[in-house]
Amino acid sequence: MVELYIDIKKIENAIKKNRAKKVLVQAPAGVKMKLNNLLQDLENRLYTTFIISADSCFGACDIPIGTISAIKPDLVIHIGHEKMIKMKGIVYIPLRYEFNHAEKEELLRILYEHLSSSGIKKVCGTATAQYLLLLKWLKKEAKRLGISILLKKGRHEKKGMVLGCETKAAECNAENVLFVGDGFFHAIGISKNTGKNVIILDPLSKKISLLSFKDIEKKLIKRNFAMLKAYHAKNFGVVMSTKPGQFFEREAFEAKRILEKNGRKAVLIATEIVSETSLLDFMLDCYVIIACPRISDDLAHWKTPAITFEELKTIFKKA
Ligand code: SF4
Repeated sequence: MVELYIDIKKIENAIKKNRAKKVLVQAPAGVKMKLNNLLQDLENRLYTTFIISADSCFGACDIPIGTISAIKPDLVIHIGHEKMIKMKGIVYIPLRYEFNHAEKEELLRILYEHLSSSGIKKVCGTATAQYLLLLKWLKKEAKRLGISILLKKGRHEKKGMVLGCETKAAECNAENVLFVGDGFFHAIGISKNTGKNVIILDPLSKKISLLSFKDIEKKLIKRNFAMLKAYHAKNFGVVMSTKPGQFFEREAFEAKRILEKNGRKAVLIATEIVSETSLLDFMLDCYVIIACPRISDDLAHWKTPAITFEELKTIFKKA
């Protein structure tokens, strides 16, 4: 069975090194429930008190500053993602899945059958942090079978690693991109940014599927409707996320300036988690959301028109 591996030794060393007595731990959904048992032993041995954050932990950008400033821990342990933000007192503990030999062989077979039946001999290999070791193994073994998986460094040290908002590692010299991971979030980001088809190998469900750039183009056309509605709106809210990795104050001020220059009214709004419900009270015609660059995927489901900063710039450049 596939095991989720958390580097407890690294957590222990960080606590000892920082002589931390009060430690705030954050982790993504699905991992929080495991923490109690995992941390019990450390708590007893190191005379440390752990406090588990119930805040969201969607990405490495997602540091709960409100909770940190209230609790004032000696150390924050962020479980789940590779380091993204340089902030003192935060230690990143990436998660990784461990596969036994039979599981890896099965995934290799699924991948090989899919690629060879599609006549593909070369792909650009990408994965989220949890599956990077598996991707490296697949690269080595696929070579034996005549398939080349190219690995490129993105903005992170690790070759092949992508985030939802950072997919430079997918820009190899190959027509198709292989994404090893679960869910569609990262694959959509890759396809949007590269204009390529993405072959998704999900190691948990052991399924392989194709996300074609044509599907993505359909989503992009839907965004044009939102942009048209925004163009006709008069009263705007410019919404800034206060999460450290998503806090872009300069862009928010610039958005307000662009709107006012084009005869619209604009108010600046700050919130930690951007949601349509939290904005209902404002009763504005349209929102410009300055937060995670991937927010436009969610905005498509909002009832009130909402656009990103990039979309705002496109609208008023054309106007
Ligand atoms: S900004 Fe968005 S996509 Fe990037 S790491 Fe944060 S949550 Fe993930």
